Parts: sequence; structure tokens; C-alpha cells
Amino acid sequence: MENRSVIIIRYAEIYLKKKNRGYFERIFRNNIEAALKGIPHKLTTAAGRYYLEDFAEEDIEELLARLKKVFGIHTMSVGRRVRSDMDEIFRAALSVCRENGSFKVETHRADKTFPLNSMEVSREIGGRLLSARKNLTVDVHDPDFYVYLDLREDGTTLVFSEFFDGAGGMPVGSAGKGLLMLSGGIDSPVAGYMMAKRGMHVHCLHFHSYPYTNMQAKEKVEELAKILSPYTCGTRLYCVSVTHIQEEIHRKCAEELMVTLLRRFMFRIAEIVASRHGIQCLITGESLGQVASQTIEGMTSSNSVVKKLPVLRPLVGFDKNEIIERSRAMDAYDVSILPFEDCCTVFLPRHPAIRPKLDYIEAEEAKLDVYELIEEALKTVEKMDF
Ligand code: ATP
Ligand code: MG
Repeated sequence: MENRSVIIIRYAEIYLKKKNRGYFERIFRNNIEAALKGIPHKLTTAAGRYYLEDFAEEDIEELLARLKKVFGIHTMSVGRRVRSDMDEIFRAALSVCRENGSFKVETHRADKTFPLNSMEVSREIGGRLLSARKNLTVDVHDPDFYVYLDLREDGTTLVFSEFFDGAGGMPVGSAGKGLLMLSGGIDSPVAGYMMAKRGMHVHCLHFHSYPYTNMQAKEKVEELAKILSPYTCGTRLYCVSVTHIQEEIHRKCAEELMVTLLRRFMFRIAEIVASRHGIQCLITGESLGQVASQTIEGMTSSNSVVKKLPVLRPLVGFDKNEIIERSRAMDAYDVSILPFEDCCTVFLPRHPAIRPKLDYIEAEEAKLDVYELIEEALKTVEKMDF
């Protein structure tokens, strides 16, 4: 057998689910395959790990970049898989070893039939590495790097030197489906990311006020859905126009309630869209106290129109800078800060109501034909898959 490159994938929380482990692993595996679509490779699994092999060397970077967005992966290593033969193991160890610095060989021997025990393997390979590279030293307490040797039961040895962090979390598709209310801002994409990390398959719903908002605003949201898509194992974006609703509120209701009333429409429409597509909850990027509509009173007002589904607000206790950090980490920030307005800024009141009372809101809302306005909005639904 030749010296062959391998990417070792170790999974995160899945192993905790002892009882339905098979179910989780099937989803996890499908997600990995979906993420790597278009790049030739072979994925196998043994003893709770996944091995990626038979890929082209020049694809390694792209493979790792894609795997970094697959939830459920705890760590990864790039290395070699060779026959469990000391000469082959040594050659592989040399190929993952740095040119200089201090190192330690750490051996794990699952194959108990191998003639040397793990201490002896480490010592022997360490000694050969030392004589092959003059600038190396051994430090068993605080080495600059490790050389790991994993002698598997099937007579092969995995040789690698580093652990890369994966995205963690649970495999997407193992925790139901959610409908993310996706604006063009910083918060909502992060909220979608966080629910996907817990294993939820996330679809998106965006409300626009075309022609008050322009096409660039819509393209920006499409771009955000595209950025979210690898984390959510694909996503569908629903777009709904609320222009006529904003105009009607503007015409008939108290100016200070524009945002409050509009948000109640958004939540009602979101629940209908979700229910029609078998989606089990709504997700928003709200964070307590961040803006006028995100007070507990504001949340009460919008929540009270949702009849059955839970509304998940994964960012409710986060500071803005924590959200920004996550937005950067998921590569959404640069798009989120593009200066195109989504619908909420059209007809924005000079002084939005900060703690509106539900009685007052309902009295103002009674001036509108809520049912008719929602029906009209639902006629504008567009779908796009990313
Ligand atoms: P974000 O950064 O996500 O835009 P925000 O700080 O601007 O949030 P709001 O505009 O009050 O806050 O929106 C709160 C939440 O309501 C958003 O995170 C999103 O989930 C939802 N939302 C707001 N506007 C829209 C929209 N045009 N389409 C879909 N959902 C929206
Ligand atoms: Mg916003």
C-alpha cells in the first residue's frame, strides 16, 4: 500500500446520543457527503471516526474549508494512512514532521497483535526521526508539536501531527426545521447559524418593500442566504412583499406604531408560511433591549399573534459585540453591513413606541383588514434554493 493522504474526521456531541446513534450518524454522513459534492473522494467510517481518502492533494484546502462548516465535526486531522509496518510508519511520520523544533511521538495501539507496544513504537519512531533531522529535539513534557501514530485494528496506521477545530454542534437535520426571519442585518444570519449548530435545518423568510427598497437590498439578503447555506446544509429563501401593508398602516394607524404593527404582520405571515411547509418554529435575531421594538413589551406584542409555533430567539441574551464577533466568524459581516435598507426603515416613525400596551396596539390594528392584507401578501411569495 502506498503512502496515502487521509483526512480524519472526529465527531462532536453525537456520540452522547447512545440510543439513536445510528440515526445521527446517517444524517451526519449525508451532510458531509452533501458538503463535499463535486470533489472526488471516498468517505469511510470505522470505530466512531470518519476517514476521507482518494482525493487529489490540491483539493485538500477546499475539502477542509467545506468540512469546517459542517456541524457535528469536533476535530479534524490531515495525515497519512499506511500499512502498519515500522518502515512505512517512519516514512509517513517524516512527512508530517516539522523541519525543526521539539516534538513528542504519541502512539495509540488498537491493534494488540502488533509486535511492539505503544511505548516501543513511540521510542523507535522518535529515535529514527531524530537521526533523520538534525534540528529536531525530543521534549516529552512541553513539545512544540506532536507526531501521532494510531495503529488501527485493520492493520493500517494513521499518522498525523495536528488537530483542527471543526464547527462543533449537532448534525443539521437531527433537530427539526425552523423558519428564520432573515433581514439584511447583522443579527438574523447569526441566529440562523446558531440554530443550525444545534442541529436544526433552517429555511429563511424575508420581507421586502419593493419598490421602496431596491433590488440591491434583495440581492443582499440572497447573498446572506447563500452564506448561511453551507452551515444549514442548503436553505430555501422565501421572499414576501409587505409594501401594501406598510402603506395601509401608514394611512390608517398611529405613526409611532408602524414598526410594532408591521412586526405583528411579519410574525403572522411567518407562521402561515412555516405551517404550510411543515416547519416547526420561527427564529428571529432579536436581542433584548437592542432597539425600540426589542423590549420585552415589543416581543410580547409580536409573540401574541403567533398561535402555535414556538418563536426561538437564540440571541436574546447577547451583546451586540458578541453578535458581531460571530457574524465575522461565519463570514457574514461584510455583507451584513452593506448599506441597503430592508423594509423596516421605510416609513420609519420619528419616535417609535418603546413600550406599547397591547390594548392600544390592538385598537389601532382594528382599523385594518388584517386577514385581507395577509392574503394579499401571501400571493407575493417567491422561493429560491441555495
Ligand atoms: P437584524 O440585524 O437581524 O436586522 P435588527 O437589530 O436590525 O436585526 P430588527 O430590525 O428589529 O433588529 O429586527 C429584529 C428581527 O426581526 C430580525 O433579527 C429578524 O429576525 C426579523 N426581521 C426584521 N426585519 C425583517 C425583514 N425585513 N424580513 C424578515 N425578518 C425581519
Ligand atoms: Mg434589521
